[in-house]
Amino acid sequence: MNKITNHMPTAELQALDAAHHMHPFSSGAELAEVGARVMKSAKGVMLTDSEGVEILDAMAGLWCVNIGYGRDELADAAYRQMKELPYYNTFFMTTHVPAIALSQKLAELAPEGFNNVFFAGSGSEANDTNIRLVRHYWAAKGQPERKVIISRKNGYHGSSVGSASLGGMTYMHEQGDLPIPNIHHIDQPNWWAEGGQMSEEEFGLERAQQLEKAILEIGPEKVAAFIGEPVQGAGGVIVPPDNYWPEIQRICDHYGILLIADEVICGFGRTGEWFGSTTYNIKPHIMTIAKGLSSGYAPIGGSLICDEVAHVINHAGEFNHGYTYSGHPVSAAVALENLRILEEEKIVDRVREETAPYLKEKWEALVDHPLVGEAKIKGMMGSLALTPHKESRAPFKAPKGTVGFYGRTRSFSNGLIMRHVGDRMIISPPLVITKDEIDLLIERAVTSLDETYAWAKSEGHMQA
Ligand SMILES: *Cc1c(COP(=O)(O)O)cnc(C)c1O
Repeated sequence: MNKITNHMPTAELQALDAAHHMHPFSSGAELAEVGARVMKSAKGVMLTDSEGVEILDAMAGLWCVNIGYGRDELADAAYRQMKELPYYNTFFMTTHVPAIALSQKLAELAPEGFNNVFFAGSGSEANDTNIRLVRHYWAAKGQPERKVIISRKNGYHGSSVGSASLGGMTYMHEQGDLPIPNIHHIDQPNWWAEGGQMSEEEFGLERAQQLEKAILEIGPEKVAAFIGEPVQGAGGVIVPPDNYWPEIQRICDHYGILLIADEVICGFGRTGEWFGSTTYNIKPHIMTIAKGLSSGYAPIGGSLICDEVAHVINHAGEFNHGYTYSGHPVSAAVALENLRILEEEKIVDRVREETAPYLKEKWEALVDHPLVGEAKIKGMMGSLALTPHKESRAPFKAPKGTVGFYGRTRSFSNGLIMRHVGDRMIISPPLVITKDEIDLLIERAVTSLDETYAWAKSEGHMQA
């Protein structure tokens, strides 16, 4: 076999890929037929594929490349660290400078009262840590019966057995006999799809109060924690009604249950603050982090843990948990360099004050498009609900996702990575996107919506 390089014809790369590489969230048979798109290189917000075609990545990879592609500083940090100490673990009373420096930096950036981090290799692993950690916490406090974790339908917390159980994706639960015991799901705050005749306010309250109902049904003495994403990402960028989180907070406080904010997407500037919890004034006990922590340049995740919980865990003997790559020195060095750039270049401030407001104005104007019923945006994450009938917020009669998938395909052809979740179009661009690039994003999105609308009409999908 010749060495496989970027210079091979795309079709050959695709054939090899299909022959040996099983992809996440894909059908192998379909991939073998269609061929995966081969990405070759990237710079800023632009990807280049194996055919030399440039694409604006309005998803920042998988919501993670916050500082954009092609920052040599991160490559240099990884190189230096690999030469000096490529690996050592943090088990059994050992540590190293990258893990020390990154945990100190995270304590500095996190809201007050967060001075500890437990590292993992990804968001999924971090949420698995959280399951064990909160149950261990309550056991250490003499309440071992507090085991139930309440989460939300259509929430996303990862793909491992534990984190997928926390998640509320039924299509994931169907494979692998999930969820694990003692996870309870309540409904999501998606007003557009599920609000019926209620106002957004009434609905926000009703959905938050489902938490209280669940706690009372299960028995408050059995509930360990509630987990939620400040803004649901993979569920379709569901921006909750303004009164939702304050009510969730009130209920968690009232029953004394732990609140876990899954900040894997919202963290590190995506909502225009360092954490989504700050944007929504949530006071969590634990925050899950990953993705933007290293801008995706190296795999790393973790749980930021508030002082009270950390104190209990630290005084409850050994925590029998950890990953070979917890606090991996190369990933930690890369993350540290990423945070330095985010901070020194004031990228989060620029998002909040300049680029997010600019994008918001243009994105929200898309609600006037004949195919769009709702245009939601928070910071640098946005969604469009496609509908055949704006007033009634009706779904399409075609199977869910038919129109959304077509929209995504048009968007990719038009040089824009915009994803679909069912019939919602979503974006989450790198935080460094400029106003000119936002103009280009919107222009390509509009073209794609126009083409999708014309097609949907001709296919008869616009009949409500
Ligand atoms: C992506 C994601 C995860 C899982 O992170 P991985 O690094 O893919 O394991 C967890 N929670 C949220 C909110 C996510 O978006």
